Amino acid sequence: MLRNLILLWCLSFSLMTNGQEYKYNYSFFSNSAMSGDYFFSHISNSGGSAIKNVNGKLPVNETIFHTPGNSLELTYKNAAYGNWKAIIFRQEKRGMDHFRKARFLSFWILNTSEISSGLELPVVQLMRNDSSLSQAFKITPGKANQWQQVIIPTSSIQNFDPDKPGNFIAVVLSQQNKKDNKEQTIYIDDIEYLSPENGGSVTKMPEITSAVGYAKHVDISWKMQNDTNIHLVKIYRSENGKEYSAVGIQHPYINRYADYTGKTGKQYFYKISFLNNKYEETKLSAPVTATTKPMTDDELLTMVQEACFRYYWEGAEPNSGLARENIAGRQNMIATGASGFGIMALIVGTERKFITREQSIERFVKIVNYLENAETFHGVYPHFMDGTTGQVVTFFGRRDNGADLVETSFLLQGLLAARQYFSGNSEQEKLIRDKITAIWEKAEWDWFRQYPESKFLYWHWSPDQGWVINHNLIGWNETMVTYLLAIASPTHPVPVSMYYSGWANQDSTGRKYRSNWGQTSEGSTYTNGNTYFGIKLDVGVSNGGPLFFTHYSYMGYDPHFITDRYTNYFTNNQNIAKINYRYCLKNPKHFKGYGENAWGLTASDGPFDYSADEPVPWQDCGKIAPTGALSSFPYTPEESMKALKNYYYNYGKFLWGEYGFKDAFDLTHNWCSEIYMGLNQAPMVVMIENYRTGLLWKTFMQIPEIRNGLKKLELESKNTQEQGK
Ligand code: CA
Repeated sequence: MLRNLILLWCLSFSLMTNGQEYKYNYSFFSNSAMSGDYFFSHISNSGGSAIKNVNGKLPVNETIFHTPGNSLELTYKNAAYGNWKAIIFRQEKRGMDHFRKARFLSFWILNTSEISSGLELPVVQLMRNDSSLSQAFKITPGKANQWQQVIIPTSSIQNFDPDKPGNFIAVVLSQQNKKDNKEQTIYIDDIEYLSPENGGSVTKMPEITSAVGYAKHVDISWKMQNDTNIHLVKIYRSENGKEYSAVGIQHPYINRYADYTGKTGKQYFYKISFLNNKYEETKLSAPVTATTKPMTDDELLTMVQEACFRYYWEGAEPNSGLARENIAGRQNMIATGASGFGIMALIVGTERKFITREQSIERFVKIVNYLENAETFHGVYPHFMDGTTGQVVTFFGRRDNGADLVETSFLLQGLLAARQYFSGNSEQEKLIRDKITAIWEKAEWDWFRQYPESKFLYWHWSPDQGWVINHNLIGWNETMVTYLLAIASPTHPVPVSMYYSGWANQDSTGRKYRSNWGQTSEGSTYTNGNTYFGIKLDVGVSNGGPLFFTHYSYMGYDPHFITDRYTNYFTNNQNIAKINYRYCLKNPKHFKGYGENAWGLTASDGPFDYSADEPVPWQDCGKIAPTGALSSFPYTPEESMKALKNYYYNYGKFLWGEYGFKDAFDLTHNWCSEIYMGLNQAPMVVMIENYRTGLLWKTFMQIPEIRNGLKKLELESKNTQEQGK
């Protein structure tokens, strides 16, 4: 008994200490995602001074680098009357907001010719977030053509707080007062803050556990080593098993690397090593080998599904087993809606045997045990939770500290599918079903009307601020699932009439809401009726909106079986996907890359910000998210397959990674996202599966409560239609 108590105490203590977010190394530059020019740089020059640029940015060099695959090149000329300047901005990543203490600014530099005094070299400054600059630091020259590390203690930088490294947003290199008029070339790489606390030697040895060849890439994974001194994992490739060259790096929190070689039918050998933050290297691992091979369309689909599935399998928050908002991002924080999508991706992974049924059941037991004890508000989960404590995380600000009805709908859509899928008689499968039923039945949908006679459901509720966000749910958008589940609830249902009074509201409240976000009156009465690119749209704001509207509610709900007074939602979704496709073909803003092989505007990460792109010029900023076309497979199979092949075969070098396609890319700005998003990877897995076998649609549509809910809607539609006549 006492022993158990001590164990319990130890467990709860470890839970508390685990609550601390993962602290990232703060890096200004390690590699450019794209060849050519570096998006997060800016150069300028005056007088007779010059600096080489590509499209106004610093050139990326892929043959000379400190860490593979590239570095930044500075080729410049210092003139008597003039100056040049290169600014390297840190790339902001969503949720990457906890950092190690920044004790040193470190970067690696290589000068290509012998430099005696160092006056030919640029000076280094840091830029604060108000654009002011620190004092300038000089660089001592090293031997020609050898990488040397430059270290500046941050204590010598004016007003530097090592706990707030983000107060400085860029590194600036500029001409020193030396008018040699000679052209110099230097390379710079791995600009970052370092902390001596993580500066020890790596004692763990690297070990590759698998290597699998696909059409144009090899996927390798290794044993995850828990050693805080591992700064990076370095990947080496060989074509003959003898000479190896460094081809890539990986962060220590991911134990997988997708090496896109671009060649099919070729054997490769791999080794890896660990680097500490002095870039001292462990011994190399034993080699492994794999051969790339031609792949059928079917195999390509499975490849994409499996890679994206891994985001929710090995990329999951370990304590809850649920999905992170994005990777890399907050590591302890889970996103409720993305977790619901991820649950459906796990079901696909089980059915396709990416994992065994036993592994899957073990994961689902973990998930339901976590959710059973996680914080809810009137039975409704918040948008973000701490995976270690189950408490709400106010990632979107203080007001969002309570329930999120829409995110909970996405979660429940996944959970209910899982309840139906795990139909076995084992204790564990029964436990999964019972706990999901309890979670489903405690959700008080009717509370979210705000007041008894309300026509609408409301998105948020806060325990201390009530209805402060006051966002009523009005379609057409991604929230149909919320009304359908609220109507279907066996314990806290809302009247079916709310489908028409709320979701499809046609009075001034609905019209105003839709005109506001669509920036047009088209579709503002819920129904649309206009023709876009030759396609008639029954329902939809503007010309249909971002594509995720046709995905999120319909991963479980089969739109073939959702027909209201105005349209059938398979047909309507298909039309929205086709409009999106044809808009991208027309490409009125002349963005690079748009066309029959690259299309699908939707919500994603972007070069400037996360945004929900739509097929209208005022909501189209030039980025394409692979999830747009690929999660539309059931609606546009041929167009989606063309996009998939183009993204993999032509853009794989920058777009393909360990969890499948990166979130988005923008060829006009020569930018590719370096993150994966929880809301975007799973819809590809699930909707491709719905296209291939209908697995999630069939499973979900068997659920008795769901069938009852849709029956109610059918009756309501019929009755109100008759009344309307
Ligand atoms: Ca590099």
